[in-house]
Amino acid sequence: MNMLTGKHLIAGEWVGGVATFSSDPAHGPSHEFAVGTAADVDAAVKAAEDAFATFGWSSRADRAALLRRIADEIDARGDAITEIGCQETGLPEARLQGERGRTVGQLRLFADHIETGEYLDQRHDPAMPDRAPLPRPDLRMIQRPLGPVAVFGASNFPLAFSVAGGDTAAALAAGCPVVVKGHPAHPGTGEIVAQAIDAAVKATGNPVGTFSLVQSDGIEVGAALARHPLIRAVGFTGSLRAGRALFDLCAQRDEPIPFFGELGSVNPMFVLPNAAVARAAEIGTGWAASLTMGAGQFCTNPGIAVVVDGPGAEALLTTTQSALEETAEQTMLTRGIADAYRNGVAQYAAGSGVSQVVGEDSAPRCAAPNLFVVSGDDWLADDNLHKEVFGPTGIIVRARDANQMLDIARAVEGQLTCTLHMDAGDIETARKLVPVLERKAGRLLANGFPTGVEVCDSMVHGGPYPASTNFGATSVGTLSIRRFLRPVCYQNIPADLLPEEA
Ligand code: NAP
Repeated sequence: MNMLTGKHLIAGEWVGGVATFSSDPAHGPSHEFAVGTAADVDAAVKAAEDAFATFGWSSRADRAALLRRIADEIDARGDAITEIGCQETGLPEARLQGERGRTVGQLRLFADHIETGEYLDQRHDPAMPDRAPLPRPDLRMIQRPLGPVAVFGASNFPLAFSVAGGDTAAALAAGCPVVVKGHPAHPGTGEIVAQAIDAAVKATGNPVGTFSLVQSDGIEVGAALARHPLIRAVGFTGSLRAGRALFDLCAQRDEPIPFFGELGSVNPMFVLPNAAVARAAEIGTGWAASLTMGAGQFCTNPGIAVVVDGPGAEALLTTTQSALEETAEQTMLTRGIADAYRNGVAQYAAGSGVSQVVGEDSAPRCAAPNLFVVSGDDWLADDNLHKEVFGPTGIIVRARDANQMLDIARAVEGQLTCTLHMDAGDIETARKLVPVLERKAGRLLANGFPTGVEVCDSMVHGGPYPASTNFGATSVGTLSIRRFLRPVCYQNIPADLLPEEA
């Protein structure tokens, strides 16, 4: 089944280019894709701005219909998406199918969400013409869409964080046209999803500039998008290095714009003394499974377990070690990510006082699990051990006592998640940790593992830098729509001129 054109989708047309790049699938045939240019970006963004004139004022019912139609069109292409998605990413079929379920589920969730109208946060302070000493005007506030939004597809979720992923769904729900910079790790998957969005935009009579996809395997297209004066915000999931470069670029524009980057996180787990003694085997095997799921290529992968030294720590080490030793190597999303994994592992291994207890060689585009152990003193002294290694690698940090565990909590950078493993006898230690960890992470968990992010109203997938570049926001769940809205107050504006919802 080959449904690919290798072209960009710009304002409803499939557009080729002179330069091309070849995809590098984990298995199956490679395909050629056009490399976008600054002119392609300009055409897509100008069409998005044209589309905003109507799409930005469309009814919530019409946008909900578009989101539901996109979900249906994606499902209609399900087999083709799974086939090419597995080839390009090396992920198993069940993962692609499950991720498609999540992707269409979040499109439909946003359709339901905007229909309620709650996200508008409507406020009305009626006029008080007789108020003394000054009358009050009529004041109405609602949230309005920003305008064209740029979205960067993420390598590690070829569907749920890519072309029709959470950022795109939230922006379209808000009323913002979207221009996606496709990720070169899965350009074919991205193109088929773009075909689904194109069909939905046309079938629902929305303007063709509502959605465009520009493909590329270099940084120029992304930089041109972030710099384009008509782009009003950027949604990004990826590395700290790229995210920081794009964040700086957005801040340095003549007119700075918000950059919503979801970047790195080591997602520390604090295994409290009673839980460690009573449940080391359960926690160790659960951790090994969470750490190696999807070859560890999840932003919520729990890379660090902090435990107070003693028999509980020893038992946690033994059970995690044996579970990881039974886990085979897995294919990684790209050669570049596999190389970065090897470099990160080497950096951990070179740390002072670090011992490696699990570690096997693996094939070039693969990753085998690694496990390291270090004392609390050595971990606190070495910033390199605080950094994320994207892949199936964990460090056990053996704290001297509960006070040093607290020092370690204070020393961790901003995180997407922090986890407590605790039993009833740990409540006093937990009471001291929670106020520290709450300032570090977007999501706190007890007695669970952070991989598996529920898409729902109360989810927060964000956190203080470097977990994200905007700790007031989330990139998963219905609250993520707020990134692409801004409050507007209408003072004494005649009803005929107000947006429908105000
Ligand atoms: P990446 O290097 O951050 O790239 C993400 C996207 O940004 C790509 O489309 C890339 O374009 C573009 N880009 C990179 N640098 C740019 C720049 N200076 N200006 C404009 N655009 C730029 O991420 P990746 O290739 O997906 O994976 C590499 C590493 O990112 C991983 O090893 C991992 O550490 C991290 N990562 C983290 C998460 C997370 O959930 N936080 C998710 C995925 C990856 P091109 O590729 O076309 O050059």
